[in-house]
Amino acid sequence: MADCVVSVAEFRAGNFRRVSFEVASEARKVADALNVPLYGIAVGAGVGDKAKELGWYGVDKVFVADDPALEHYVPELYVPVIASIIERWNPAAVLLPASVDGKDLSARLAARLQTGLAQDCIQVVCDGGAVKAKRPIFAGKCLAWCEWAQGALPMISCRPNVMDCKDADATRQADVEKVAVDLPEARSKVLGVELDTTGKVELTEAEIIVSGGRGMKAAENFVILEQLAKELGAAVGASRAAVDAGWRPHSDQVGQTGKVVNPNLYIAVGISGAIQHLAGMGSSKYIVAVNKDPEAPIFTKADYGIVEDLFKFIPAFTEEVRKLKSTC
Ligand SMILES: Cc1cc2nc3c(=O)[nH]c(=O)nc-3n(C[C@H](O)[C@H](O)[C@H](O)COP(=O)(O)OP(=O)(O)OC[C@H]3O[C@@H](n4cnc5c(N)ncnc54)[C@H](O)[C@@H]3O)c2cc1C
Repeated sequence: MADCVVSVAEFRAGNFRRVSFEVASEARKVADALNVPLYGIAVGAGVGDKAKELGWYGVDKVFVADDPALEHYVPELYVPVIASIIERWNPAAVLLPASVDGKDLSARLAARLQTGLAQDCIQVVCDGGAVKAKRPIFAGKCLAWCEWAQGALPMISCRPNVMDCKDADATRQADVEKVAVDLPEARSKVLGVELDTTGKVELTEAEIIVSGGRGMKAAENFVILEQLAKELGAAVGASRAAVDAGWRPHSDQVGQTGKVVNPNLYIAVGISGAIQHLAGMGSSKYIVAVNKDPEAPIFTKADYGIVEDLFKFIPAFTEEVRKLKSTC
């Protein structure tokens, strides 16, 4: 008999990443359906002081591995520590963030615990006592429901920005237990991390994204997207065509071979809407496309379409946003 559901949090630079709370919220629903407690695992340097925050999102008890050596994600350390905590119980499911580090961690944990992993899921349900997870496949063209053989532990990584996050309830207290960590000798070490200090909004966490494609015609033309993004508090993304042309760094690429994003608003500018691009942004809540070709495939996916030359539309739109903001 399963005795709990487990949600693993991601702690970076002194804070939990928001996806940790989304994962806890989804895991709470599964725990409620099965009538078992929800245990959280928090690993990092200084994470103990923040662990109670997981309780605000539904975790009943947080198991904390707090050690300076765990400041950065090092698989050789994180995997045995987290696996040894999970092995204390017989969980009905383990949910983790499908962030860049989380995807790596979940694959390694699944191998270590000899179970199957459903990666990058968008929904987790409990159906007659069986945990099932839904995930997009074939570049988002289909959705697959995954379930596990009897006795196998469902390991599920959850796509950021998709699952509903509970409102934080600061009155809800979780028990916090410090776990003595027995760290193995790591063969690799992260010497330091250089954080982007430009104030750029991280694509995978952005509420609004303005992305440019080949239609932008040159690297310097992205300045009009930067200006619009600044007014909207948005991040700037790009299609692979724009990245391959050297106009934007690969870290800005959205799509099958770039980042998967789920903002509330995605504005695709001069992007045709190839399937590989849609794979990265198709689940955005609202999609606006600006394209001079009325037949561009992006319009079949867009909630709002503007058939216009982007070099006319974007500066005029930015000006309108500015005016609107000044009257608010
Ligand atoms: C294995 C594989 C993986 C891939 N991974 C990715 C990925 O991760 N992300 C990705 O984006 N692509 C990816 N691609 C590439 C993808 O197939 C497309 O080639 C790419 O998305 C096209 O980029 P685009 O829409 O910017 O360019 P185009 O398809 O050339 O479209 C440019 C658009 O701009 C419009 N336009 C031009 N001028 C203007 C103007 N002045 N005003 C308004 N509109 C204008 C045009 O009408 C056109 O629709 C991948 C391909 C493969 C094979």
